[in-house]
Amino acid sequence: MDERSTAHCLSRRPKQRLRLRMDLSHAIENGELTLHYQPQFVVHSGRVCGVEALARWFRANGDTIEPGVFIPLAEETGLIGALGAWVLQKACETVAGWRTPGAPPITLCVNVSTHQIDERMCAVIQRVVEQAGFPAEQLELEITEGSLMRNPEAALECLRQWKELGVRIAIDDFGAGYSSLGYLSRLPVDRLKLDKSLIRRLTTERKDAVIVRSIIVLGKDLGVSVIAEGVETEQQLQMLQELGCQQVQGYLLARPGPPEGVQALLTSRWGTRHCRVIAERDATLGQQGPAALDRFGDVSPQFRQASAS
Ligand code: C2E
Ligand code: MG
Ligand code: MG
Repeated sequence: MDERSTAHCLSRRPKQRLRLRMDLSHAIENGELTLHYQPQFVVHSGRVCGVEALARWFRANGDTIEPGVFIPLAEETGLIGALGAWVLQKACETVAGWRTPGAPPITLCVNVSTHQIDERMCAVIQRVVEQAGFPAEQLELEITEGSLMRNPEAALECLRQWKELGVRIAIDDFGAGYSSLGYLSRLPVDRLKLDKSLIRRLTTERKDAVIVRSIIVLGKDLGVSVIAEGVETEQQLQMLQELGCQQVQGYLLARPGPPEGVQALLTSRWGTRHCRVIAERDATLGQQGPAALDRFGDVSPQFRQASAS
């Protein structure tokens, strides 16, 4: 049985699930969880501009439990507060240790669960950045669209308090949920992360390309930066560059990995072969947003049908 199917089965059978809850509690208390980091790149320069911390659970018996299984489990069982505080602490301590004199600062992105969006989180953030000596303005907390929509007014108040501490806020998986654009304009947000599903269909579905372009324009007009996650192919990367997307993250450029590997990447100026290729391309491509959609033809079949009738 591979890692994925192990996790899948464990997530479904009630008995194993109960056992897993107890093991997770033990894993948090005994430091069995670890963090991997995935670099993020500036499209036009190829420079590493940030890293996303991603929780990993490698069990002593050799099994790997996916975050898609143990994060919801932690949320259901009330363990997410302890897990989230540990992630924040560990990530800040680790990345604080990477600072090299003269190197440009990088942003540390940490995922925050919907269950952590409350007034207690403020004290956690404050304590962690102080203890780790991590600059708050280089810490970005990622929350999903869905987590905000559960209780929009309370979430807005929490985010405002977090912002007062100096941290950055990003909306993760943007474009996959149903958030209202009116609400977005009120949020103290610094970055939008284009959802993987939009990037997956970017070069094959015209409508997805139009949505991606609109979000990039929206971000520019709102003064919010936009990063694409889940970039897996050269074609996706090129199209994102043509649409004016400033930052990218994905398997094409670098997979999440242990801290040592990522730290080595930070000290090499261009990071990966792919970014060297981008850096050599014409930086003015970012101006050509509408032209990038020409590859789909002039009009969509629906539009053609509507104009004919
Ligand atoms: P996310 O925050 O949207 O993280 C991105 C996910 O996409 C990660 O999966 C990452 O490994 C994966 N990914 C990165 N590049 C690519 C790519 O090019 N293609 C594809 N197909 N996938 C890519 P991962 O590590 O399995 O995490 C899944 C989710 O679990 C995360 O999605 C996040 O919602 C949650 N998560 C992970 N760590 C934490 C954590 O410390 N706290 C909380 N609250 N949630 C976490
Ligand atoms: Mg994330
Ligand atoms: Mg995401």
